[in-house]
Amino acid sequence: MAKNCVFCGIVSGDLPARVVYQDDNVISFLSKDAESFGHTLIVPKEHFPDLYSIPEKLLGAILAVVKKISIHYKNILGASGVNLLHASGKSAQQSVFHFHIHLIPRFDDDNLDLWPHLEPKEWNKDEFLQKVKL
Ligand SMILES: [Zn+2]
Repeated sequence: MAKNCVFCGIVSGDLPARVVYQDDNVISFLSKDAESFGHTLIVPKEHFPDLYSIPEKLLGAILAVVKKISIHYKNILGASGVNLLHASGKSAQQSVFHFHIHLIPRFDDDNLDLWPHLEPKEWNKDEFLQKVKL
């Protein structure tokens, strides 16, 4: 548990949250500033700051809960789609440094557009590929 971490506070019960689901490793609750209907966070109970530090096994458990809740919202709410959002690192606009995934259930008439509209930019993809290919 990390000091001054709002998500650790929710896990310990020191801070209130509207919990949708929890098991031994993962907790899921409604986003406090839910910008859209059903905006839900999926969070490991153990504190890891970001994607770089989280163990793969725990990441798998989190994604299993993401899938479970997506299917649940489809069945219960009639969601016809889902967006997942995640940020790791300040440059990616991460605001709470306890790993989390945003789940946004989508509906045919919700009028949301969660894809960024970026200007096309030229960059050398061959050079990039040569550098990064595993
Ligand atoms: Zn934490």
